[in-house]
Amino acid sequence: MNPRSRKMRLLGLLPRRWVITTARRRERTLYLTFDDGPHPEHTPALLELLARHEARASFFTIGREAAAHPELVRRIVEEGHLLGNHSQTHPQFGRLTLAGQLDEVARADAVLAPFDGRDRHAFRPPRGEMGWRMLWHCIRRRVPVAYWSYDSLDYARGDAQALLETARRHPPQPGDVILMHDDGPLSLAYLQAMLPAWRAQGFRFEALPLHA
Ligand SMILES: [Zn+2]
Repeated sequence: MNPRSRKMRLLGLLPRRWVITTARRRERTLYLTFDDGPHPEHTPALLELLARHEARASFFTIGREAAAHPELVRRIVEEGHLLGNHSQTHPQFGRLTLAGQLDEVARADAVLAPFDGRDRHAFRPPRGEMGWRMLWHCIRRRVPVAYWSYDSLDYARGDAQALLETARRHPPQPGDVILMHDDGPLSLAYLQAMLPAWRAQGFRFEALPLHA
């Protein structure tokens, strides 16, 4: 398996103000991102690991989960990470009308707004599924669409060892946006091994530079 997909390479050809797949390629920075949380068990463990390494990241939360675990969302913001929108209930976007998709995004924005004071958040579509009409809507409304360039593959069935072998065989490049998930244990095992290794290679870890 390869962390870099053809789809992300193609999306990476679009202007970065429309669709983010990488950021600041010239700096030795990696952008860690987590989808599908917050999760009461896995998110705190990740936050502690990130704090120990002075790493900042971006959390694309599901609105429903954020509403269920407000203390975790507060912690994410207080500890310097970025909050992103990963829809309210994580449905299959391809099965929704455009109005239904926009409603999912608006409801999640409303859940997140009290935590970071922003009306709108960068949007990462569930499963990366996004039709052209929704993409065009986001472009027109200047909602950053946040994809990734480097997939940890932590949602694929398999063990941490297999993920680490892939990470070592295909090392990330400066500016890569790394896709992980905080609703399961694999991202913690992955980062416990890779954060020190990447740091030793001179990488820093920042939240996505969306509001700069
Ligand atoms: Zn997801």
